[in-house]
Amino acid sequence: MADAPVELPGRLAILPFRNKVLLPGAIVRIRCTNPSSVKLVEQELWQREDKGLIGVLPVRDSEAASVGSILSPGVGGDSGEGGSKSPGGSGGESTKQDAKNGKEPIHWHNRGVAARALHLSRGVEKPSGRVTYTVVLEGLCRFSVQELNARGSYHVARVSRLDMTKTELEQAEQDPDLIALSRQFKATAMELISVLEQKQKTVGRTKVLLETVPIYRLADIFVASFEISFEEQLSMLDSVDLKVRLSKATELVDRHLQSILVAEKITQKVEGQLSKSQKEFLLRQQMRAIKEELGDNDDDEDDVAALERKMQNAGMPANIWKHAQRELRRLRKMQPQQPGYSSSRAYLELLADLPWQKVSEEMELDLRAAKESLDHDHYGLTKVKQRIIEYLAVRKLKPDARGPVLCFVGPPGVGKTSLASSIAKALNRKFIRISLGGVKDEADIRGHRRTYIGSMPGRLIDGLKRVSVSNPVMLLDEIDKTGSDVRGDPASALLEVLDPEQNRTFNDHYLNVPFDLSKVVFVATANRMQPIPPALLDRMEVIELPGYTPEEKLKIAMKHLIPRVLEQHGLSTAYLQIPEAVVKLIIERYTREAGVRNLERNLAALARAAAVKVAELGSTLRLGKEIQPITTTLLDSRLADGGEVEMEVIPMGQDISNAYVNPSPMIVDEAMLEKVLGPPRFDDREAADRVASPGVSVGLVWTSFGGEVQFVEATAMVGKGDLHLTGQLGDVIKESAQLALTWVRARAADLKLSPTSDINLLESRDIHIHFPAGAVPKDGPSAGVTLVTSLVSLFSDRKVRADTAMTGEMTLRGLVLPVGGVKDKVLAAHRYGIKRVILPERNLKDLSEIPAPILAGIEILLVKRIEEVLDHAFESGFPLRPRSSL
Ligand code: ADP
Repeated sequence: MADAPVELPGRLAILPFRNKVLLPGAIVRIRCTNPSSVKLVEQELWQREDKGLIGVLPVRDSEAASVGSILSPGVGGDSGEGGSKSPGGSGGESTKQDAKNGKEPIHWHNRGVAARALHLSRGVEKPSGRVTYTVVLEGLCRFSVQELNARGSYHVARVSRLDMTKTELEQAEQDPDLIALSRQFKATAMELISVLEQKQKTVGRTKVLLETVPIYRLADIFVASFEISFEEQLSMLDSVDLKVRLSKATELVDRHLQSILVAEKITQKVEGQLSKSQKEFLLRQQMRAIKEELGDNDDDEDDVAALERKMQNAGMPANIWKHAQRELRRLRKMQPQQPGYSSSRAYLELLADLPWQKVSEEMELDLRAAKESLDHDHYGLTKVKQRIIEYLAVRKLKPDARGPVLCFVGPPGVGKTSLASSIAKALNRKFIRISLGGVKDEADIRGHRRTYIGSMPGRLIDGLKRVSVSNPVMLLDEIDKTGSDVRGDPASALLEVLDPEQNRTFNDHYLNVPFDLSKVVFVATANRMQPIPPALLDRMEVIELPGYTPEEKLKIAMKHLIPRVLEQHGLSTAYLQIPEAVVKLIIERYTREAGVRNLERNLAALARAAAVKVAELGSTLRLGKEIQPITTTLLDSRLADGGEVEMEVIPMGQDISNAYVNPSPMIVDEAMLEKVLGPPRFDDREAADRVASPGVSVGLVWTSFGGEVQFVEATAMVGKGDLHLTGQLGDVIKESAQLALTWVRARAADLKLSPTSDINLLESRDIHIHFPAGAVPKDGPSAGVTLVTSLVSLFSDRKVRADTAMTGEMTLRGLVLPVGGVKDKVLAAHRYGIKRVILPERNLKDLSEIPAPILAGIEILLVKRIEEVLDHAFESGFPLRPRSSL
């Protein structure tokens, strides 16, 4: 860059710059398209050998006057059109009427900068053939316009130099004021440079400038590099005095510096305000991008974020939330393919899904409504319903009372489950049934530790997750069917569950953090009380549901089962009617159970058959009169209007099949019964058929299905006096058989089974006793009397009475002891059509439970001793010889 002042000619061709100032030291590139500036460039620069100087004069904006403009790199513009008068300042006029448009005056500035072309290039626009020039200009020194004249299409000015001469400069440089000013300027400029340096590393050259370029040029160069307003540029141009120029430049540089610093501060502040989570979000976004790049993005990140949100909303207690977050952090660090990822995820999902706080709103308990609903859903069961109402009443008075857990005990299909769900309904809580049948492993209740592969939470936690409230009514179904073995004792885990002291912090091995079960209302069911461990039984209040009489079943069927079954199959009595007599037949011939489950199943089979018929009928029927399509003219006009097609709507809730014209309801009769359900499965003759030979007796037992008639078969064959027992017998029943045999052998002579008491009844023969239904395990002492009867029948070769069944435990001395389940047993006998039942005398009190109609049809024979049993069991009695004194 030239540092010696330039020689300025007296006249300069003038290129107008609209709203722009070219300062000395600045370099700009302009594109000239306007004919006058093209002419100027062509004549003054392009065609001249000695590329001379031109003058650049700022022109104030004037809309009509299109004047020359600076071209920033890449931006196009126009060169201005000349005027013909000189500006003011040193005598010339400053405005001029636009030659072409005659509208706005052009405002010439009276000071400009001489410039030289560093580079020139010529272009021809296609297809117009217009010539354009691109010129790189360097500003050199200031001048003032003495006179402005038009020369051809552009202007020429007589100019005089404004910048100082070399000697003047040298003198001025001694001025202490200037020295101080220039020091200040340099310091500010330096500061700016170092700030810029931090932002972008390419300002090295500027620093060099600061040291090499003379101060009077530096100011212009610096200011020219900022974006400042036109007015400021003009005032910079007008600052001819070096001191004024320096202080102005210092001010501008400082302002520029401050604006950069402020901008930086704001950015920093904004960045600081980004919260931790926003930062995390940004980082995560980046991580995602990286993963995407690596090709292992499965939107897992989103998933995990969603999981976290779910966890946040789960309302976990603080300590568990901490634990969950720790686990979440671990998950985040894992790759989805990594082992443990999915299990960790499943675990967190569980944590998020568990109802830590969610509860069903408990409404004010309306006992009357609860009673009505219980009555509506269940026939009979007066005592049971009463007990449930009491239970609810206590809860109403003391909602957090930790009363005993209700346990419904009874054979299948007597309504245990549906009673429990009625309790849930009355309490307005959700209902969940946890089946414990066959649970032998403690882990089923408590879950497996997560170290196991495929570990899962226990059934309780899983149930709570499914029901998603923490206060459901939870039915522990078949609590008597849990057994213990090497894999732990589920009953002890259940003890913890049912213990109000402990279940606040129930510990599932999988979950590994305590869960509060205290809000859960537990209800249990069992088929039998006996297998329930005493400790568990202690926590529960047992309510027995013994099973129904045929009359009760009939009522249940007519009032509850049939309407329900019809509804389930989309039918109504308009389609299917099952008369009472037919229901009675189903009860007698197709079901032999304590509950009503099979009865319901059989009714459902009838409903299915009817549904098929109705559906077939329906599909062949035309639509009824009421649902004929809308008249065509109306439809056509509606369609023409673009309207919708009108349709007849079958009212909701009305049985869809009502839309069909049903000629007459189907009434189930005996023939249909046989067609649908097959030939009768039971009849009254079974007992008679089975006791057709000696050695068979009819017992009454109590199983998990309620009372049952159990035949006992005994036979003898050649052998060595051994006793064989078959039919899946337990130890107690095996001992009963031993005992029976001993008693018979001991009393053989009295029973006239052998002529004298010293003859071995088993001489060279084995005895085999079998309990049919070999697949069903049997145990208990109540078969004692039946075993004796069967053996006596075998040895005496006399058939027992087919109409008589018996139950009773027997002592070695022949006393008959009372047994349990008398009501169920008598009901079972009644179902079999048995007319006489032999019972231990001490079971007399139990007879009061048996409905009178049943008792009326059965002769109850109470006995104290086994001899009496035998007397009743055989036709025309079994007279004994007077006891021989042994
Ligand atoms: P459990 O749980 O005792 O095996 P469920 O509760 O499942 O028996 O009952 C079987 C079916 O019999 C259910 O549809 C139930 O509504 C019905 N049921 C049982 N007892 C009655 C009753 N007393 N009144 C009306 N329906 C009953």
